[in-house]
Amino acid sequence: MKTTQLLIPTQKEAPNDAQVISHQLMIRAGLISKLASGLYTYLPMGLRILQKVEAIVREEMNKAGAQELLMPVAQPAELWQESGRWDEYGPELLRFNDRHNREFCLGPTHEEVITNLAAQYLRSYKQLPMNFYQIQTKFRDEIRPRFGVMRSREFIMKDAYSFHLDQDSLQETYDVMHQTYCNIFDRLGLDYRPVLADSGSIGGDSSHEFHVLADSGEDAICFSDESDYAANIEKVSFSKQDRVCTALADEEKVLTKKITSIEDVAQFLSVDKAQCIKTLIIKTADGFKALALRGDHELNEIKVNNLLGEFDFATDDEIKSLDLKKGFIGVKGLSVDLIVDYSASVLCDFVCGANEWDYHLTGANWQGVDLNEADLRNAIQGDDSPDGKGKLVIKRGIEVGHIFQLGDKYSKAMNANVIGESGKAVTTTMGCYGIGVTRVIAAAIEQNYDDRGIVFPQGIAPFQMVIVPINYNKSTRVKDLADTLYQQCLEAGIEVLLDDRKERAGIMFADSELLGIPHRMVLSDTHADNGNVEYKARNNADKLEVKFEEALSFIQSKLN
Ligand code: ATP
Ligand code: MG
Repeated sequence: MKTTQLLIPTQKEAPNDAQVISHQLMIRAGLISKLASGLYTYLPMGLRILQKVEAIVREEMNKAGAQELLMPVAQPAELWQESGRWDEYGPELLRFNDRHNREFCLGPTHEEVITNLAAQYLRSYKQLPMNFYQIQTKFRDEIRPRFGVMRSREFIMKDAYSFHLDQDSLQETYDVMHQTYCNIFDRLGLDYRPVLADSGSIGGDSSHEFHVLADSGEDAICFSDESDYAANIEKVSFSKQDRVCTALADEEKVLTKKITSIEDVAQFLSVDKAQCIKTLIIKTADGFKALALRGDHELNEIKVNNLLGEFDFATDDEIKSLDLKKGFIGVKGLSVDLIVDYSASVLCDFVCGANEWDYHLTGANWQGVDLNEADLRNAIQGDDSPDGKGKLVIKRGIEVGHIFQLGDKYSKAMNANVIGESGKAVTTTMGCYGIGVTRVIAAAIEQNYDDRGIVFPQGIAPFQMVIVPINYNKSTRVKDLADTLYQQCLEAGIEVLLDDRKERAGIMFADSELLGIPHRMVLSDTHADNGNVEYKARNNADKLEVKFEEALSFIQSKLN
């Protein structure tokens, strides 16, 4: 294609709301345009990239034996009522009524629709296993849409759902999908890691996330420095340890006037935060609970969810009504049940609140406390790896994919049964597999850029090469050569962009560099005098002179 035929609105400055580099560069390179918070138009260059990512995903899914279909964006409430999620799913689910006042939502995911489909069309065990996928628009009314298409409200997902007769069959497809995701992210040229993820009530190793490693990632990923253990921080679990306390200190009540935060208390008393205990008050369906953690640890809300169900942090008024003193809550004589994190319960001679305004205890111990222990915390750098090998290192990751064994959660609720071998109805077992297709583009840019712009991996660049003729509109010689090379490339099936604008060379170079086009050929009168073209790769500063007659075969060798 020719640049003058295309809308490529490159710009020097990024908008103020673009905090991360991928968002800045996607706007500056003219790939996307913001319509409203979390809603973006894919401009022609952005769409070319998107279609390339989709093509790779589609090819690998087809290779893995999955079949493509396409489900509606709008979904009737009845299906969600059947699965129980109409009430469970929070405000991320955008709900609306049609003209007949029937309730609908915009699909944030498609378990309900596909399970309904399976219930209709899958009748016999002989049809199983089956794996369906689509590449389709999702809507989630995210509380904080940000980072451009990385966390948008409308985005494109590849979502797949498999149906099985039993767990063994599900595991087999799950393993195939795991490998398929590796193939996809390899082909996309990403530096990624599959990591263990929280699988809620299903448990076990039945969920993996695929993370692209990048400092801007919203997730924390833990790796062992000695083994191949890798897990989302949410998932890293700890077991109970033995408490060994010798020669206990004398407990003392010390005045800590208006000192409430763990940082300030630790500093004031000159102790390590790890030697202090903080107590959090939460509200569960089963009443208020107190959770005790080591001062340097953070609560893992997913673990609490799995242990106690949905919960909220108690408000200041609620804390007051329980006769607790916010900032000075301790672990002894509480009016609510106390659950102690495994690493807090092994502390000896610790600091904690005295349950009295302006006082903390030093030299406190667990004597006299009815210890109810659990794993409540997030991992921190340097923790022992849960597999017993090495220490944990924490890195940032962008979740680009997620595979999950669902079991019979949806198939049971929505009657997705088949007739089994014995003639009796069997509830199918399901797996689901997502890739954030639009998020992948942002993630690829986070890993591939320099001070001039994007450095796209070859597989997803909007064009494979650009021809930049200098004085295209003035020198017929340059124009003839550029047109000839352009035609040759088109005929050879190369995705080539001819920059036919009346622009200065510097601007044309800058734009193609911003866009991340991997290969560039420059033609000018000087080059024509020497019978050469100039070649430069986006990811290499060196320029090369190539004989004009050899330009096509040269570029072909670069593309292979
Ligand atoms: P996150 O924790 O980032 O919100 P999620 O757990 O909600 O992700 P899934 O429901 O597993 O995500 O969705 C599958 C994939 O869809 C994710 O791995 C991610 O790549 C992508 N995705 C999810 N939410 C968004 C979003 N708001 N914008 C862009 N992509 C998204
Ligand atoms: Mg989410």
